Amino acid sequence: MSGPLVGNGRINDAVCSAVKENRLPHAILIEGDKGTGRHTLAHFIASAAVCTAEIKPCGVCSSCRLAKAGTHPDIYFTAPEDGKKNISVAQVRSLRNEAYVKPHIASCRVFLIDMADTMNEQSQNALLKVLEEPPGNTFFLLIAESKAALLDTILSRCTVLSLSVPEYGEAEEYILKNHKYPEQQVKSALSDFGGNIGRTLEALNGAKTKTASAAEEFTKHFLSGSDAGMLKTTAEFEKNRVDAALFIKELKTCVAKAAKENYRNLLTAKMLLNFYNELSGFEESLNTNINLSLLFCSLVCKATELSK
Ligand SMILES: [Zn+2]
Repeated sequence: MSGPLVGNGRINDAVCSAVKENRLPHAILIEGDKGTGRHTLAHFIASAAVCTAEIKPCGVCSSCRLAKAGTHPDIYFTAPEDGKKNISVAQVRSLRNEAYVKPHIASCRVFLIDMADTMNEQSQNALLKVLEEPPGNTFFLLIAESKAALLDTILSRCTVLSLSVPEYGEAEEYILKNHKYPEQQVKSALSDFGGNIGRTLEALNGAKTKTASAAEEFTKHFLSGSDAGMLKTTAEFEKNRVDAALFIKELKTCVAKAAKENYRNLLTAKMLLNFYNELSGFEESLNTNINLSLLFCSLVCKATELSK
């Protein structure tokens, strides 16, 4: 049976069966490191709880769509307020009052408590009251990095699902299938983050943004013929082949875009297209043992030559 998580087969199976057989526990604690899919799982369960289709969550009914948009009136979300470290007692009390309100459109209400391990003892005791005698048709989904910060009395009322990072191969397959990052870069980031998909994607995204803006900057320097500017931009990509490959790839995109934007200016467009063609050669030479400082040095030389 497939489920919402990469890896974590037993949890996927257990959750899918519980949804299918309509026997979701009233309180679930999802624990795991950031990036292991805790929110993915919580949203899957919340959507399944409110979904009106036969096979839940269907992803297309109006309840599923509202759940996905974060605007379902029967899914109540709690987390520390902006700038605060903890979920306050007042927040738990208002959640508790809310729990006794009848569902608005679904047949149940879902209370999602993110960073549940930031509740102090007083808050947890306030929550305990409603967990002990939950109103009918309410589900409590607690998300925490570790259950260690929660009282035994809370834990004893929750079904605890402990998420772990998937096998490298599974994580890699998932990222390559769902995101457009070069394989080498995915492998290297995954190994930096021990197979943690969320952290890997965050890093890849950050690297992509950084690389894309560097490529844009380089293109500007190229157009203005500033070799010093070009050298300065490439300096940070000399340290690692994966970053270097990503930079050249982004640079090709930027240069092609600039050529298109400058199509009325034949000389500039031609200069950009010539440079684009050269870039493919540099991209290929990355597969050899070439020294990266040397590679970027000759890339800038070529760019300077073409922009004159
Ligand atoms: Zn649905």
